[in-house]
Parts: sequence; structure tokens; C-alpha cells
Amino acid sequence: MKKSGLRNELIVRIGILVFVTIIVLSGCGTLRTASKSQKSEAVFTADEISLIMSSDLTSPMRVFKTNSYSDSLLLRTKSSAITIDTSDNNLNTLIKRMYITVNDTASAGVGIAAPQVGVLKSVIWVQRFDKPGEPFEVYLNPKIVQYSQLKQERREGCLSVPDRRGDPKSRSYAILLEYNRADMSFHREMVEGFTAIIFQHEIDHLNGILFTDYLKD
Ligand SMILES: [Zn+2]
Repeated sequence: MKKSGLRNELIVRIGILVFVTIIVLSGCGTLRTASKSQKSEAVFTADEISLIMSSDLTSPMRVFKTNSYSDSLLLRTKSSAITIDTSDNNLNTLIKRMYITVNDTASAGVGIAAPQVGVLKSVIWVQRFDKPGEPFEVYLNPKIVQYSQLKQERREGCLSVPDRRGDPKSRSYAILLEYNRADMSFHREMVEGFTAIIFQHEIDHLNGILFTDYLKD
């Protein structure tokens, strides 16, 4: 998700009751230490490994864009859950190079999903504007298991969609997430506000969905 201008135009409608209800129902921030692996995990393909290993750890990866037909086909394909192995050099390199990519001046963003660098695996980076210091954090196999009925609108852009911005009306104000960390731990967490939009945008990428799908024209 693109960086510039996203923090402006704050239009959040507060619905304390809905949000509090979700928190109470979900047990916000509970942490389980054991990893909970997902079904249908997949290993990296030869093409993915070649993209991941195409350069060193300090180099950004090429961002796939909708103005290329072959890139578009990939961006519209669902990603697979990933088998987490802390000693997997391909996974560790992908994680590092995605971080370099989303922080590169040519592709600066507030979030990025693996399909955007040509890898159909369930890995995203999200900038946590809801945490002190607004750190970037990586999430493996992220899933949204609950959405608030309360919506929020914010202008979005995407590193993969050149020259297009818009306000999807369908973003939930709060979401309940499940994900793994790179250390294989499993977490469940409630996220709200702008950071929840970034998660929804990036997890959509893992399902072949682009923010423009929600826009009318
Ligand atoms: Zn995007």
C-alpha cells in the first residue's frame, strides 16, 4: 500500500459499542506460544526462488504491476500458506528483501504482500501506526477471522496499481487477526483504525484482490 497522502484525510467514525463488543467476544491480544500450522502449505517454486535469490539482501525486489499483463495474472492469483522453517534461507531472504522493497524510495509504502514481488506465498509486511515508533512488522499466514460492522474510509493507493487512488467504502474499522511470526509462534490480535486498513489491503493481495475492485469506476 502506498505511502504518500495516506495519513491525511482521516475519516473514522467511532462506534465504541460495536468495537468494545468485538473486543469482549474475541479476547483481544491473546497470545499462544505454540505454532498452529495451516493446511495446504506449499514450498517455494523454482521461479519464486530465482526471484528471491536474484540479488543480495540489501536490494529491493521488482514490484509487479497491473500495467503488465503477465504481472496482472500473477497479482490475481491466490497465495498459498507457507511452511515456516526458521532455517529456510529462501523464506528469510524473501522477508528481508520485501522489507527493503517497501522502504525503498522507488516503492515506498506502508505495507507490502509477497505477490507484489512475484511470490505467491502468504507473507506481508505492515507498518504498525498503532504502536510506538510505528515499526514495520512481518506476518506469515495472516487471516482475518472477524470484521467489525463499523466501516471506515481512507484514501488508498497501491505499489502495484500505478496512478490510481480511491476510497474503498468496505473497510472495517476493526479486525480480529490470526497469524504466525517468523519464529513460528501463533498469535491472535485485534487491530483497529488505519493499521486495520493496511492489513485488509495486504491480506486482499494474498487472495488476488486489489483495492480498485471496491471502487465504482
Ligand atoms: Zn497494494
